[in-house]
Amino acid sequence: MKLYNTLTRHTDQLNPLLGNTVRLYTCGLTVYSQPHVGNWLGYIYWDVLVRTLTAQGYVVERTQNITDVGHLTSDDDNGEDKMEKGARREGLTAWGIAAKYIDIANHEANLLRLMTPTHLVRATDTIPQQIAFAQALDDKGYLYKIDGDGMYFDTSKLPEYGRLAQLDIDGLEAGARVSVEGKRNITDFAVWKFSPEGQKRDMEWESPWGIGFPGWHLECSVIARETLGDQIDIHTGGIDHIPVHHINEIAQTEAVTGKPFSQFWIHNNHLKADGQKMSKSLGNIYTLQDILDKGYNLDAFRLFALGKHYTTEGNFTWDNLEAAANRLKHWQETADLYHQIALLQSCQGTDAQVFKQKLTDILANDLDTTHALQFIDETLDAVLASHTSSECFSCIQQTIADVLGIELKKLDISQQQKALIAQRTQARAGKDWTESDRLRDELLKQGIGLRDTPDGALWYRL
Ligand SMILES: [Zn+2]
Repeated sequence: MKLYNTLTRHTDQLNPLLGNTVRLYTCGLTVYSQPHVGNWLGYIYWDVLVRTLTAQGYVVERTQNITDVGHLTSDDDNGEDKMEKGARREGLTAWGIAAKYIDIANHEANLLRLMTPTHLVRATDTIPQQIAFAQALDDKGYLYKIDGDGMYFDTSKLPEYGRLAQLDIDGLEAGARVSVEGKRNITDFAVWKFSPEGQKRDMEWESPWGIGFPGWHLECSVIARETLGDQIDIHTGGIDHIPVHHINEIAQTEAVTGKPFSQFWIHNNHLKADGQKMSKSLGNIYTLQDILDKGYNLDAFRLFALGKHYTTEGNFTWDNLEAAANRLKHWQETADLYHQIALLQSCQGTDAQVFKQKLTDILANDLDTTHALQFIDETLDAVLASHTSSECFSCIQQTIADVLGIELKKLDISQQQKALIAQRTQARAGKDWTESDRLRDELLKQGIGLRDTPDGALWYRL
């Protein structure tokens, strides 16, 4: 597997540190509001990454966090805690908001058929570990206090911090960092924030430095280390995480362990909608429910996502989703037709392995999903063109399900519909074209299309 590594800015070959096991960490959702399609995009790519690695014979140990505290509205150390903001908006406590949106996130992840990570960990379930980690940083002299604000990481004390800043491609948003009064360096960041004077937060804990809550980046350093160890192979996230969150994760972890944190940092690009950044004011924030309400299947959304490479910017429009839905329909039509032919054949097992090998080889080239989908188009078209094939379609279908997470269904039609098809075949044999057309139209009305082949009339769902 080769992947574009943001850390080296090269496409590098993956060589896991622990032989056959790939340790992978993914930054999870902040559970304070309804996720939109752009929030889910990256998780579809990482899902296919895990499936591809598994198909290649790796054992993937994967951790994802759930941010339920400490993520401020600015991504930096200013602004309101997103959880507290959500709580005020909905008249709930921060704990109530977390519970509500964790349920929604889990439900939607299941709808998208995302594989559940080996470890799925809430930030608030690791507060003692986060405090111990911050204590280790403090013992090593990395922290300083800003009165009434919090404990900050002094980035000038980590000579490597400048090197890490190379993650910040083209100075992405670096200028957007707001200086907090009392910071020694503009890149310094909060590891522990104090609760505001005289105010009780829904979420706050005792600590050696005072009552408060962890800085946002701390949870990822800690949860990754607790579940996967000091060093991991791949860390994934959105490109918006590069300039602040990921650089700071690296700084904290490497300051404590003295070892390189992750071999690979890979990032998915943004998703626009209707050609523009998604925003409330433009009314172009779409959710999975919007997709379902329009009568689309979420596999169509998965195919839409996989139709572009994860490093390129996406554009969600109903036309683009429709194109993906049509591709899915064409695949399903092939499955319908082929299952009728395949009944006559037995599985050889060998050709499907060739198909699986080709598909994973394509994906192993920096997760080239665009070409993987084209390869499937071509394979299925070849099946349709020849009507017979030595390849076992059930195995091909299983590979598509295993590697891309797209399930083509095995559908059947009713006995009455089968009888109509048989009657039509008889009518054709007797050259009664009027009756044959009438029966075809009757089936069309019931959503069944027919294709006349050397194997007889085959049906498919429209
Ligand atoms: Zn993170």
